[in-house]
Amino acid sequence: MILTILKYPDPVLSKPGEPVTEFNDELRRLVADMFETTYANQGIGLAAPQVGVSKRVTVVDLSVGKDPKDKLAIINPEVIFRDGKQYEEEGCLSFPDIREKVVRAAKVRIRAQDEYGKWFEIDGEELLARAFQHEIDHLDGVLFIFRMSALKRNLSLRKIRKLRRENAW
Ligand SMILES: [Zn+2]
Repeated sequence: MILTILKYPDPVLSKPGEPVTEFNDELRRLVADMFETTYANQGIGLAAPQVGVSKRVTVVDLSVGKDPKDKLAIINPEVIFRDGKQYEEEGCLSFPDIREKVVRAAKVRIRAQDEYGKWFEIDGEELLARAFQHEIDHLDGVLFIFRMSALKRNLSLRKIRKLRRENAW
């Protein structure tokens, strides 16, 4: 099922997600729906708060559904190692049409559980490292505009206010 993606400034987006304690069919349904929603929006990742569920659940798939090996359900994640710096453009499905450069670690290792509760570790570089950091930020209620420079954030917020006034957001 394709879920509705909440847009900024919906308050759920700024609220930290609760850890997942039950790895049941309901959770697996949420994960499946989140992948479907990501693909329907041509995205590479989505966090549960973006669909109104305040839980530490995120999905990432750089292949946008084309390669099953890239499909990652990431639950209760933590960044356990970070190295280097990258400064690249990012977007977010909760901020349609806003794309700006954001500073992130170049490499990260994360520890997380899959949709059955099994713990795993995975390394990411470049785009994958960015996706991990962007999605884990969502689980902490941190949105990418707050990672931008003050100048870019203000420009983005001004653009959003204008779009909202025009009922185009
Ligand atoms: Zn996002």
